Amino acid sequence: MSITTSSDYISREKKYLATNYKPLPVVLNRGEGVWVWDVEGNKYLDFLSAYSAVSGGHHNQRIIKAMNDQLNKIDVPSRAFYTDILGEYAEKLCAFTGMDKMLPMNTGAEAVETAIKAARRWGYRVKGIEKDKARIIVCDGNFHGRTTTIISFSSDVDYRSDFGPLTPGFDLIPYGDIAALEKMITPETCAFFIEPIQAEVGIKVPSKGYLREAQALCKKHNVLFILDEIQTGMARTGKNFCYQHEIDKPDGLTLGKALGGGIYPVSAFLARADVMDVFNPGSHGSTFGGNPVAAAIGLEAIKQIEDEKFAERSAELGDYLKSKLSAIQSPLIKEVRGMGLLVGLEIDPAYAMARTVCEALMKRGMLCKETHDTVVRFAPPLIISKEEIDWAVEQVEFVLKELA
Ligand SMILES: *Cc1c(COP(=O)(O)O)cnc(C)c1O
Repeated sequence: MSITTSSDYISREKKYLATNYKPLPVVLNRGEGVWVWDVEGNKYLDFLSAYSAVSGGHHNQRIIKAMNDQLNKIDVPSRAFYTDILGEYAEKLCAFTGMDKMLPMNTGAEAVETAIKAARRWGYRVKGIEKDKARIIVCDGNFHGRTTTIISFSSDVDYRSDFGPLTPGFDLIPYGDIAALEKMITPETCAFFIEPIQAEVGIKVPSKGYLREAQALCKKHNVLFILDEIQTGMARTGKNFCYQHEIDKPDGLTLGKALGGGIYPVSAFLARADVMDVFNPGSHGSTFGGNPVAAAIGLEAIKQIEDEKFAERSAELGDYLKSKLSAIQSPLIKEVRGMGLLVGLEIDPAYAMARTVCEALMKRGMLCKETHDTVVRFAPPLIISKEEIDWAVEQVEFVLKELA
């Protein structure tokens, strides 16, 4: 039987794939800039950009060229050997973030695992915490990835249910609560690990001054202040990194998603030299981490952000999007929030679930995804134009009217 229609493709995926995702019923086979097409030839505006990984848009010529050029030189020799490009990329990434050193990995979750290992070892070897006693403080509503250790400190039951026994050593506190942080810190605390905006849980933005105060508190108690900017970094929120809205720099930083130019898994843990120096040969690694193709792509992704002023675009267009969404008169809208082009639209569940809104938007040619039940996440490619945002907001307005 030949596979031609969307429902054929969907049936085949359903037959052979684990059902760990619940995709919208659209089958894509082409992308160009901010637009994607389904197998029936329908066109959609991509307002998710792969959870903000595809900041430069689809079919990104700069990234593709960097990747192809590198593939024609040397691909993956592993880190058993030096390469000519890894140091150049690391130097650029350190300059871009203001951090001293980096450790390259592939997925975001691996960068987070690296941060956890660094924080614990720093706790024992530098801070002097007793063997196997180190604790890391994290926040309710966090999302840092899907490995067994990472889900061990998730507050979301779905993420962790029946995946135990879970990894110990983590303390949960409410997000945005400075007093709770101060209370939770003990001499055994090695790090406070936090997202500057909690994206997955519904674009939760902490109140102004929170990051600054949290960092000061960590400094006072000799606790590492480590930020997960896998989703908020790389110009997504109107600055190159979200922390730059408040602080100079953290002690450690995890990056991923858009660092791979939207086409390849590239992640990194970055830190102060004295933190990174806890790693010695054999203590950590990755077969593909820091390979020349990943390095070439990461390097080009940073250059594109700088050359094409993605941070300025994100700041300006994000304000524009938020103000247009806020102007919509609809009983469905409980709140519009976010920074830069990472915007959450909170829907009143008395009228509709966020999923219903996303399905209705899909029918009008706009693709976005709910985060949990009541929030629609808007994270279009940073190359989007004002006219395209206008069009998107018209679709949102139409759909909200229809559902009211
Ligand atoms: C996506 C994400 C991760 C995990 O990245 P993967 O590449 O999916 O492993 C971790 N932290 C944050 C904040 C994320 O948004």
